[in-house]
Amino acid sequence: MDLSLEIFSPVHQIKSQLFDERGIMVFLKRDDLIHPIISGNKWRKLKYILKRAQAVNKTHLVTFGGAYSNHLLATAAAAAKFGFKATGIVRGEEVSNDTLFLCRLHGMNLVFTDRESYRDKPALFNKHFSTDDTAFFIDEGGSSAEGAKGCSELIDELTETYDDIFCACGTGTTAAGIINGLRQHQLNTRFNAVPVFKNGGFIRDEIDKFLTGDAGYQLHTDYHFGGYGKTDERLIQFIKKFVAETGILIEPVYTGKMLYAIYDLAAKNYFSPGSKVLAIHSGGIWGLLGMKDKFDRD
Ligand SMILES: *Cc1c(COP(=O)(O)O)cnc(C)c1O
Repeated sequence: MDLSLEIFSPVHQIKSQLFDERGIMVFLKRDDLIHPIISGNKWRKLKYILKRAQAVNKTHLVTFGGAYSNHLLATAAAAAKFGFKATGIVRGEEVSNDTLFLCRLHGMNLVFTDRESYRDKPALFNKHFSTDDTAFFIDEGGSSAEGAKGCSELIDELTETYDDIFCACGTGTTAAGIINGLRQHQLNTRFNAVPVFKNGGFIRDEIDKFLTGDAGYQLHTDYHFGGYGKTDERLIQFIKKFVAETGILIEPVYTGKMLYAIYDLAAKNYFSPGSKVLAIHSGGIWGLLGMKDKFDRD
């Protein structure tokens, strides 16, 4: 089967009085529009992983994630679309939520596992699938050199050059891919990574693992809002305003934090006047469904 998805990811300008005042232009690359479920960077990361699975005749994708993992859901939908069987090994005790409902609806088999065993993914894979020679291991979040390669193609699609590019970081694979893409195209765009975890400095090691050459980049570690999946009133208000003013849906786990960083840095004169800034909307808007209560306060 041909493992391809036609990439639809236009670039839209985001207008705001703040950006006008600072003399900068901010654009959003709409990777969220690539696919309704296999959204954003998750398709880019899976593309070469699935090709390798196919090349070695593996038909059963086995991967890992938390109960709200966008990667689990993307893998479930990609498996359904391209004719693979899929198992998701889920961290923690059995629960049900919107993400897992959608995973199951796409035919993914779910195995819940305690947090201790979850740490050793190769051991879990061997425990459950040592006798299944169709099984193919995909790391949590699609973290891999192939994942980074897929993400580097985002840069191939650009028809303009930018002074700055921003993306949110979980495993850092997407950031590494984009940095590699910038280097391959010999662009001297400044790359900005926004880790969504507390103490996100460690992400530098994760990003550097997948770099194919030397490259500098900026890490903005102050926009985690308390940690992974955490929010506060400022972030929720920012997201409400952004969605209502632009008609572009964003969520608080990744893209919301990254865009908040851009507005905050613009207010602090981080960008030179005349700068063109590109933010990557990495998708994942189904995650909003698990956070409805955070928006219900007023
Ligand atoms: C998974 C995810 C990320 C993080 O990507 P990494 O390659 O793991 O750094 C960013 N944004 C969204 C919406 C995601 O689902």
